Amino acid sequence: MSVSRRDFLKLGGATVGGLLLGNGLPDAVAAEGEPQFLLHKKVGEIATICTYCAVGCGQIVGVQGGRVVNVEGDPDHPINRGTLCSKGAANWQVIYSPERVTKVQYRAPGSDKWEEKSWDWALDRIAQKIKETRDKTFVAKDKDGATVNRTEGIAYLGGAQHTNEEVYSWVKAARALGIVYLEHQARI
Ligand code: SF4
Repeated sequence: MSVSRRDFLKLGGATVGGLLLGNGLPDAVAAEGEPQFLLHKKVGEIATICTYCAVGCGQIVGVQGGRVVNVEGDPDHPINRGTLCSKGAANWQVIYSPERVTKVQYRAPGSDKWEEKSWDWALDRIAQKIKETRDKTFVAKDKDGATVNRTEGIAYLGGAQHTNEEVYSWVKAARALGIVYLEHQARI
C-alpha cells in the first residue's frame, strides 16, 4: 500500500486527535450548544490514558449513549493505581468545553485577525511549508566534508501521551526528512 505524504499527515493528525478523556464530569457537560463528540462505543467502559502530562495515568471512562458519563482513575494501572490529579480530573473539558477550538484557525504573517480554514487546506499548507523549509535549510555535507544529509531548519516535538508505536512512526518520518532536532515535552 502506498501512503502519500498528505495521507501520512492525515493519519498522524487523526491519531493525535484521538480519544482524550478526563474525570469529575459535571452535569454542565450536557449543556446545549456544546461540541458534539460522540464515542463509537455506546455503552460500557473504556480504558485510556490521561492526555495531559508525562505521568501517563490510567483512566476508566464510563460511556452511555455515546457520551462520557463518568471518568475515574484506573485502580489496576501501575502508575496511578486509581488516583488522578486535579488536571486529569478536569480534562473532560477537552471533549465537551464550548471553548474547544474545533476548526482550523489561521493568522497570516502580519495579519491581526484569524481566518477559518479547512483541514485539507491546513494539511496542504503544512506539507508545503515542510518542503520549503527542508529545501532551504538542507545540509548535504558538514564543514569537514562529511556527508550528513540533514535539515537544521525544522524541529520535532513529541508528547508523553503518545504510544510507542506512534512515536516509532513519527521518529522514522522525521529521520527520513533529515530532522535532527527531536525533543520531548516532558524534558523541556
Ligand atoms: S498526573 Fe494528572 S495530568 Fe498527569 S497524567 Fe496523571 S492525571 Fe493526568
